[in-house]
Amino acid sequence: MKKTDEIIDIADNYLLHTYNRFGIVLERGEGVRLYDIEGKSYLDFAAGIAVYALGYGNERVNKAIKDQLDKLSHTSNLFYNEPSALASKAICEATGMDRVFFTNSGTEAIEGAIKTALKYSWNKEERDDYEIIAMNGSFHGRSMGSLSVTGNRHYREPFGPGIGHIKFAEYNDLDSVKALISEKTSAIILETLQGEGGIHVAHAAFIEGIRRLCDENGILMILDEIQCGMGRTGTMFAYERYGISPDIMTVAKAVGGGLPVGGFLMKESVAESSMVPGDHGSTYGGNPLCTAAIAAVLKEYKDKDIVSHVREIAPYLEKRLDEIKSRHDDITDRRGLGCMQGLEFNHPVGDIIKKCQDAGLILITAGANVIRLVPPLVIGKEDIDQMYQILDSCI
Ligand SMILES: *Cc1c(COP(=O)(O)O)cnc(C)c1O
Repeated sequence: MKKTDEIIDIADNYLLHTYNRFGIVLERGEGVRLYDIEGKSYLDFAAGIAVYALGYGNERVNKAIKDQLDKLSHTSNLFYNEPSALASKAICEATGMDRVFFTNSGTEAIEGAIKTALKYSWNKEERDDYEIIAMNGSFHGRSMGSLSVTGNRHYREPFGPGIGHIKFAEYNDLDSVKALISEKTSAIILETLQGEGGIHVAHAAFIEGIRRLCDENGILMILDEIQCGMGRTGTMFAYERYGISPDIMTVAKAVGGGLPVGGFLMKESVAESSMVPGDHGSTYGGNPLCTAAIAAVLKEYKDKDIVSHVREIAPYLEKRLDEIKSRHDDITDRRGLGCMQGLEFNHPVGDIIKKCQDAGLILITAGANVIRLVPPLVIGKEDIDQMYQILDSCI
């Protein structure tokens, strides 16, 4: 029996079947390449779902993690530790927010964002608002609060009514949002660029309009930048493009450089009227191991000017994808920003993705008909050319 089959056999016998996994056992990574346990190499345009922005094996990030591991990986939040202090400063400076709470995942960041909004509303005099407006087609995570604001019925409905008082509007349809605002609206939550739902870019008028609606009605604007943040769209955070800023925002995925982290951040005006000691906590959240990674990742972004690289390389990626689109009638759209792109087909794309894997290219989907391209942000033109060749021939 091949080693690959042995591993898959064990995993399929013991892991809970919540994923239809690809039949590849990954072992190590280097730059923009992954290697399976048989030694086969893959060009990676998925980056562990938009996580490995700096590519695999970034030396400085790895060193920061290893050094911290030898000192202390956990303290609990009953004490201070240096990496979380430094990471909190770095992430607040990078986002333009004033305060952060570190979590262990994206979905926990969403939970914290929702709790912050509800506490803020609960504290307001004369008003006790608890309704949240979310978007159809959105994805915010798998825990109960995040699931409750996720616009995909398939994910949500089997798990009951959720946290309640959530209303769904149409993404990029400001009137549909306006129609749902009531006296009881606490917050509006959305991804600045929808990822999982099929790579949908927000129109400027939509984002600006939501900011205006929030200001006029005393509603908090929560932006989920877990996937589209961290330079992926060509600005450090996607909302910068729209000249607005949210009241509360979430980060995760790329921020930990491969370690499981996230965070919810807010303006001081929100922080001072919401969360107080006792309102929220996490045993591991902000542990020195993960926050050492965050600090190192953010420093690497600065030193290597990752955002400028995205801005330089993205037009070439778009050009090549547009060429692929022009060569195949079954591709109905190419959309996205920066290094977060989607190719929409008029049929499911599972077979193409499988063929690409066999040919040494890793891609993922965003919904059944959309190929999602979220490569490491350090890709070069030659990587894009190789992706083009494999993808084009597999279609
Ligand atoms: C991945 C993702 C999440 C959930 O993050 P997890 O770390 O998987 O819990 C939430 N929002 C968006 C936009 C995401 O892409």
